[in-house]
Amino acid sequence: MKSTHRVAIIGGGFAGLHCAQALANDERFSVTLIDQQNHHLFQPLLYQVATASLSAVDIARSLRAILGKARNVSVLLDTVTAIDSAQHEITCEHGTYSYDSLVIAAGARSSYFGKDEWAKYTFGLKSLEDSRQIRHQVLNALERAERCDDPEEQRRLMTVAIIGGGPTGVELAGAFSDLVRRALKTDYRRIDLNDFRIILIQSGERLLKSFAEEHSKYTLERLQELGVEVILGPRVDQIEEGYLHLNDGQEIKAETLIWAAGVAASPLTASLDCPRDRGGRIEVEPSLAVPGHPHIFAAGDLVTLTDPDGKTVPGLAPAAMQMGQHIAKVLKEDQRLQKTRYAERYQSLRPAYRFRDKGIMAIIGKNAAVAQTGKMKLKGFPAWLAWLFIHLAFLIGFRNKLAVLLSWAFSYLFDKPAARVFSISRGICKDDEPQ
Ligand SMILES: Cc1cc2nc3c(=O)[nH]c(=O)nc-3n(C[C@H](O)[C@H](O)[C@H](O)COP(=O)(O)OP(=O)(O)OC[C@H]3O[C@@H](n4cnc5c(N)ncnc54)[C@H](O)[C@@H]3O)c2cc1C
Repeated sequence: MKSTHRVAIIGGGFAGLHCAQALANDERFSVTLIDQQNHHLFQPLLYQVATASLSAVDIARSLRAILGKARNVSVLLDTVTAIDSAQHEITCEHGTYSYDSLVIAAGARSSYFGKDEWAKYTFGLKSLEDSRQIRHQVLNALERAERCDDPEEQRRLMTVAIIGGGPTGVELAGAFSDLVRRALKTDYRRIDLNDFRIILIQSGERLLKSFAEEHSKYTLERLQELGVEVILGPRVDQIEEGYLHLNDGQEIKAETLIWAAGVAASPLTASLDCPRDRGGRIEVEPSLAVPGHPHIFAAGDLVTLTDPDGKTVPGLAPAAMQMGQHIAKVLKEDQRLQKTRYAERYQSLRPAYRFRDKGIMAIIGKNAAVAQTGKMKLKGFPAWLAWLFIHLAFLIGFRNKLAVLLSWAFSYLFDKPAARVFSISRGICKDDEPQ
């Protein structure tokens, strides 16, 4: 009987899914993709679920549906808890699985710079559940403010503070402004949504520090026009329930605190004896193999790498997709070389991963975005259009693309958000589960 090479992939995000798809229907491989969620999530649009523009179902798709036609790929819903590289085994909550090659693509999580207790006072934005909780929190706070007679308490309920002025913080701040100042503006009788405060705190000198300075300046101006209060410079040094303190003495009382300031690699990377950076990211070899573990590869947000062209690979979706595809290529090459006279040396012949930079972009609000690729820089309406098309193109599944396109068209034309229903008991709409 012909034996197949067993590949286990941890994580069905951008890296893991693209690796599985690149190995699909190659009969030399038997692939098992394990994820703790049953869906692939398009994280770049999470902020739109959090701000009621989209429903959760629009940006997630069942992994089984995506991989249904890949006969050699099995999907397992389970959480990996440990990796035993000596035994070639991974331990999950519901079982133990053996592999010949392993791909770790479990992504990143929020990091609180050593102040883990801040997690319980702030909302992160990494999962569907996070985005639903934020939406529930803000819409529910508005309901409470509408019932409230105490002006100070009303002001606190109508304040959102976002910590971190990178793309996630900027996109959230702009979208909250669109939500309260345009979409919901006629919906309440006792509160005035012009009083809703959106505070964006960035410890550095400028927003979007990975973008050109002119883009940071444009973003700041646009956000200020949208009524966002931007605080540049001071660091957050204390967070408690509904309260934060900055190291220049400022104090902010806000019902909703959102953490968009830092990420660290999945804790799974600690299962392996290998070099890692301060954020727990694996310092992979150029081929994306884990040093000292030739049968284990890592990809996506949990690796740190400078490619042979000297480019530092960023924690972005295109890089994760490319890395997943590269690992599939290496595995195929390994299989081919193993049967040749290069068998002895085949691991040293593995090709290096090269990052193909597609550029970066961030949306600020209706008709406003910034984008740059190579020497080309766009801002305003052209960047906003480019942002819409690129995000639609990368979204997985025709149904999701159509649903998102219709929601966007509706919001654009009528200034009404698509998803402002929430349930008091769970914060989840009944029709809000991934398809
Ligand atoms: C709010 C937000 C906005 C973003 N916006 C952009 C953007 O505009 N453009 C862009 O290019 N990038 C953006 N990114 C970054 C981009 O989403 C990431 O770079 C990309 O998702 C990384 O892919 P990944 O496969 O490494 O990890 P992920 O996509 O995070 O996938 C990891 C998968 O592993 C699973 N997993 C984790 N731990 C376990 C475990 N123990 N057992 C089993 N399964 C596990 C998770 O459920 C998940 O499905 C954004 C990220 C966020 C959070």
